[in-house]
Amino acid sequence: MNTTVKKKKASLPFMHDLCSLCGLCMVQTWPAREGMKICVFHKGWLGELEQDLFGRERIANHDDESRFGISCERCVARLKKPIPGAQFTGIITRLAQRAFETGTVQGVVTLHRSPDDYFFPKPVLAMSSADILAGAGSKPVLASSLTALAEAYRRGLHSILIIGTPCQVHNLRRFQKEYPYIRNTEVYVVGIPCTDNANPARFRWMLRRVSRSHKTARHIEYMQDYTCHITHDDGTIERIPFFSFPRELFGTNVHAPCCLSCFDYMNSLADITVGYIGAPLDRQKMPQWVLVRTMRGQKLFDMIRDELEFFEEVSSGDRRPGILMYAQKIIPRLAQKDSQPIKPGREMSLKKGGEMAALLSASGPRGIEFAKYGVDMHVVRNYYFVKYNYPTILDTLIPRHVRSLLAEYNLQL
Ligand SMILES: Cc1cc2nc3c(=O)[nH]c(=O)nc-3n(C[C@H](O)[C@H](O)[C@H](O)COP(=O)(O)OP(=O)(O)OC[C@H]3O[C@@H](n4cnc5c(N)ncnc54)[C@H](O)[C@@H]3O)c2cc1C
Repeated sequence: MNTTVKKKKASLPFMHDLCSLCGLCMVQTWPAREGMKICVFHKGWLGELEQDLFGRERIANHDDESRFGISCERCVARLKKPIPGAQFTGIITRLAQRAFETGTVQGVVTLHRSPDDYFFPKPVLAMSSADILAGAGSKPVLASSLTALAEAYRRGLHSILIIGTPCQVHNLRRFQKEYPYIRNTEVYVVGIPCTDNANPARFRWMLRRVSRSHKTARHIEYMQDYTCHITHDDGTIERIPFFSFPRELFGTNVHAPCCLSCFDYMNSLADITVGYIGAPLDRQKMPQWVLVRTMRGQKLFDMIRDELEFFEEVSSGDRRPGILMYAQKIIPRLAQKDSQPIKPGREMSLKKGGEMAALLSASGPRGIEFAKYGVDMHVVRNYYFVKYNYPTILDTLIPRHVRSLLAEYNLQL
């Protein structure tokens, strides 16, 4: 791909340093300032963009919609023939392949693996089925996917599919709305739910502390059983309980500040969101959770419907006690802005942490309730992170539903 990427990001035209490296202002195809002006960390989450896409904003006090966004179909499914190398069974990769093979789109904005590091991304405009397939699998660090959008524009493509995180999708939607470059391009958007992405500069530092062998790790995911599953190149799965993560990983300066300022975990402006968080955990089948949001999403989903095995959605347990406990712990720490030095080491041994994870996964929230637990936890943490670190942009950044969600827990705003 020949898109020229500027060596250094231009300075931001606003008064904070939040940036997810989405790539929009890193190319020379359009002025960097245009990308920056419409950045989600400048314009805020959801709001009018949700209104533009759906003709309305989400119902702020609707239990499901306030958390997962607007959708017209929701299901738990897996590809009957999983794609090797995919993060789960590869629904996203298959959607992109079918859209390309049917001529619905001329190219796909996705990520290959960087030759420098297995988990690092290399943005590409995939123009063949093989190139789309090579994009399968997670690269768990901030990615500049939208640099490949410039390549699509330069080549004059009329229709593209973009696979992206919530911040990338926000920037893409507003870029299309505000500027002429891709205004007439037919854009299909496949979203991943996304949280706590890693700053590339910190990723190996983190993985070395979490895993018994960071060099052999090939697949990483925070799973519904309160453990992080790391699959190694010999096929073994290492499970590290969240409660046994080294304390130094919990400092708020470890995850990228942009991820701590995100208010759209479920990627609600995508045409279709494909994750796992609302699906029951099953390591054999790896069921996925799909939210179809728009007509374009429906069109994509219909292309692979026959290739899927479907499961029932389940929901049990109660997220509320866990969220309240978490809020009591995290809010005071955020208020101190991590000014106290964190003593390195595990709070809980791997054995004890494993027992705790097993207990919670047997008695805690499951299925859809687990997805709500995940969303609420991040809304609580991110609201107070922004409140204490970026108070002047709090009102701009947060969408309407966040306050009603926090009010459910009687938290002081
Ligand atoms: C940092 C991160 C955090 C995530 N957190 C959650 C979560 O909490 N809950 C949840 O349900 N799902 C989460 N996901 C999504 C999940 O890992 C799977 O991508 C999703 O379930 C789709 O699985 P699949 O087998 O269909 O994907 P695949 O068919 O393997 O396709 C995955 C696609 O995602 C793209 N991709 C990979 N990494 C990135 C990246 N860093 N930025 C942009 N695009 C990328 C790939 O290029 C590929 O096109 C997260 C993904 C990432 C990258």
